[in-house]
Amino acid sequence: MATQATIEPVGLIQSIDPNTREVVGEVPDQTPAEVNAAIARARVASRRWAALGFEGRADELIRFRRGLANIAEELAELIHRENGKPRVDAISEVMLSLSHLDHAISRAEHALATRKVSSGVMANFRSTISYHPLGVIGVIGPWNYPMFTPFGSVAYALAAGNAVVFKPSELTPLVAKRIGEVAASAMRIPDVLQVVTGLGATGAALASGAVDKIAFTGSAATGRRVMKAAAERLTPVLLELGGKDALIVAPDADVDKAAEAAVFGAMTNAGQACVSVERAYVSERVYDRFVDKVVSEANAVRVGGGDDANMGAITMDKQVDIIREHIEDAVKKGAKVLTGGADAIKGNVVKPTVLVDVTTDMLILTEETFGPVLPIVKVRDTEEALRLANDSQYGLGSSVFGKRGVRDIAERIDSGMTAINTVIAFSAVPNLPFGGVRESGFGRIHGDEGLREFTRTKAITEERFPLPVNMMSFKLPDTMYDQLKGMIKQLYGGGVVDTARSAARKIKFW
Ligand code: NDP
Repeated sequence: MATQATIEPVGLIQSIDPNTREVVGEVPDQTPAEVNAAIARARVASRRWAALGFEGRADELIRFRRGLANIAEELAELIHRENGKPRVDAISEVMLSLSHLDHAISRAEHALATRKVSSGVMANFRSTISYHPLGVIGVIGPWNYPMFTPFGSVAYALAAGNAVVFKPSELTPLVAKRIGEVAASAMRIPDVLQVVTGLGATGAALASGAVDKIAFTGSAATGRRVMKAAAERLTPVLLELGGKDALIVAPDADVDKAAEAAVFGAMTNAGQACVSVERAYVSERVYDRFVDKVVSEANAVRVGGGDDANMGAITMDKQVDIIREHIEDAVKKGAKVLTGGADAIKGNVVKPTVLVDVTTDMLILTEETFGPVLPIVKVRDTEEALRLANDSQYGLGSSVFGKRGVRDIAERIDSGMTAINTVIAFSAVPNLPFGGVRESGFGRIHGDEGLREFTRTKAITEERFPLPVNMMSFKLPDTMYDQLKGMIKQLYGGGVVDTARSAARKIKFW
């Protein structure tokens, strides 16, 4: 749970610029009663919103998208100041968020269209699957990508026909507040997207409130608390938690490209991405070249709050302690710092750090560091790299560099997403579902899966024509037992794989 923001006596929270320590602005610390009132308003809005249908909602969401695009620079400035990332990263976050919103708007009708499915042995039935909005979605967002990450839920939930109550992190509330203001002025149905601000307790009120689903992004520890709170009402949850993403470099990889990407993947956003590259497994045949190149790339990364910087200060004060602890633990157990290191940490500024001689008993290889640190491990071959990459309680993203058999390696990494010969790119492809396995969470945002995540699935089957024997009745002929016995043998007793439907046609009775 973040703790850096100051609580003012009047119930205000200050948002602090991590680069300058200046107060960027203040927001109210909203009470559980205010959260519940927002949920109640969202409930009313959700009915009107659902009734609009895809076209009506698309019109409104396009107005929302335009409204956000019109203040893109203002949003980027807020992201830059609240989170500390460089302006170019902030504007790119706005761009990516809007590309997801745009995709969700244009894709919703197709992805959520009612579809016919085979009725199998019930061949005289017509069966369909349809998708309906859940109602009100509670979104709890983090501070590392204060617009992009929550938009993975907000945009897709809205496009799927739900109203949303969004609780941003206390560290980055101003960008969320501005998004809420644009939603209120651009869309003609009030309260379709509301923002509630506050500390952890405000998020806890949302998680235990009368919402139809909670989409949470943050730490596994808070994810567990959210799930427990939601369990009271049996509210379903979508959890996007942390990661310890591995990067594999095969012997036939383009080593320079892999090293450049590894440094970007580990250091972008000062390493504060759930899909940051957090460990690299490199074939011994290219290890030395890779390490040399990584160190020179890491040394070239410019750190600071200015426009020429590649990465800013660490957003959350207590994260600096975690990063320092991970580096010091590794060094104590025998790791070598090739650049950066714990001594180079000044205030909230952590220099890009590269470590070698790292072993699996070190926190740096097992726990999420969430900082600009890259530990590199030398491996004999790809099999060893795969074994080590998969030996983790996390499984969010991953990447692999190589040529021959590289897709096979990608398939064999136990993670929700894998980038081949690049890093992190999957999160920018709106058609690809985003989410993890194991302690990285469950459920998917983005893509068609991300739209369906915010719907309830409805199954309908309808009799097309009656059969001589109505199986949904007690008036079965005496011969039914023997007929069914024969059918079982005919349909399922053979060795040839056949569809149940075509097999059913072979049976006289049906
Ligand atoms: P948290 O998981 O504590 O916070 C994430 C969000 O949950 C914030 O909006 C937070 O609000 C809110 N929250 C906090 N407590 C509760 C609660 N009891 N019920 C409902 N919502 C709550 O993350 P931190 O900001 O403390 O970061 C800790 C660690 O989490 C980091 O070190 C990093 O490893 C990981 N992390 C992972 C992210 C990811 O993208 N997967 C993103 C951010 C962090 P508030 O900020 O107001 O406390």
